[in-house]
Amino acid sequence: MKKYVSLYVHIPFCVVKCKYCDFLSFDGESYGTMLRYVDCLCQEIKMYAPIVADYGVRSIFIGGGTPSLLDESLITNIMAFIRRYFHVEKNAEVTIEANPGTLRHQKLNGYKAAGINRISIGLQSCDDDMLKKLGRIHNFDQFVASYNAARRAGFQNINIDIMSGLPGQTIHTYVDTLSRVIEFGPEHISAYSLSIEEGTPFAKDPQILSELPPEMVDRRMYEITKQLLAAHGYDRYEFSNYAKPGYECKHNMVYWTGGEYIGFGIGASSYFQGKRFNNMRDIFKYIELMENLSDKFVEADNMELLYNDTTRTLRENVTNIYIDARMEEFMFLGLRMTCGVSREDFKERFNKDIYEVYGSVLNKYIGEGFMASEGDRIYLTDAGIDVSNVILADFLLDS
Ligand code: SF4
Repeated sequence: MKKYVSLYVHIPFCVVKCKYCDFLSFDGESYGTMLRYVDCLCQEIKMYAPIVADYGVRSIFIGGGTPSLLDESLITNIMAFIRRYFHVEKNAEVTIEANPGTLRHQKLNGYKAAGINRISIGLQSCDDDMLKKLGRIHNFDQFVASYNAARRAGFQNINIDIMSGLPGQTIHTYVDTLSRVIEFGPEHISAYSLSIEEGTPFAKDPQILSELPPEMVDRRMYEITKQLLAAHGYDRYEFSNYAKPGYECKHNMVYWTGGEYIGFGIGASSYFQGKRFNNMRDIFKYIELMENLSDKFVEADNMELLYNDTTRTLRENVTNIYIDARMEEFMFLGLRMTCGVSREDFKERFNKDIYEVYGSVLNKYIGEGFMASEGDRIYLTDAGIDVSNVILADFLLDS
């Protein structure tokens, strides 16, 4: 059977850091640093050449940060390296994350020519005052211009990210954002609830914290999102992701179904050939290491090259994923999808019936109405999704 791997490329640059963001990204880096970083990414992509010959690539995700900050020539370069060293399938989904305010017509055309066929635009809110409060670099009009430019450039698969539970947001202003987004008719909508992360300006701002909507209001926003999007033909296929039929994000599905993926760039995680690892997070150490890699290293022809002394510094937390951890992940991630997990798939992967391993927890939650079983699928019900944190914790196996 042919093997597949998905690829993630991390671009850690932003124009200005948003006030709620704890992603690995930096503002104010020089163009020179960006150029050197992209060269290093290409070097890292090349490193895998000897061990990925048997793999097909069905999805690529260029995320960040703000990848659309990079000129089309740099994205073209990254894509050219990927195509040179990996077998990218003809109909692969290739996504780039973009911020309104960084997309121009020429850039979009360049991305298209480089083989990118999906754009994920971070809008977050249609309210300009809210965008300012969040520290976003764009206003709503700039989003409209970017969205229309993407359509004009021929992109037929667009995601829009929005957020609920924002400081000072009311149900009325949230529904206004959601309704306006629906009017654009994107193929995919990601609707996340704001989470306050330690160390961010929001977490240290008592005024912002006092403006957060109560949990009940946030929950109501979540309910409205489900109802309104269902009424407009969007399927909720994961807790926070909605798509028109056939437009579910293939890349995310790989994560949620336990597929293999390789991450390039700082902080990127990988799950490949039974091992899970993260790249180092320090950008200048990463650049120094990759710039000093010798060609001899690149010509190595076995898996050891990924774990030898040189790359041990690049890759942190290399862990062998044994069967118990794989079963736990299969359940944690699979149950995020509204279609849940497949009993047959479980049997095929682990050579055991799912009830042999998880019988008591499944019977308990199915009996209480938090989970359901239909044909081959086992999934969380709406009531189960509401308390998913508690339920998923019960799928941890005693080791
Ligand atoms: S654009 Fe995205 S990655 Fe960059 S600071 Fe804002 S939320 Fe974070």
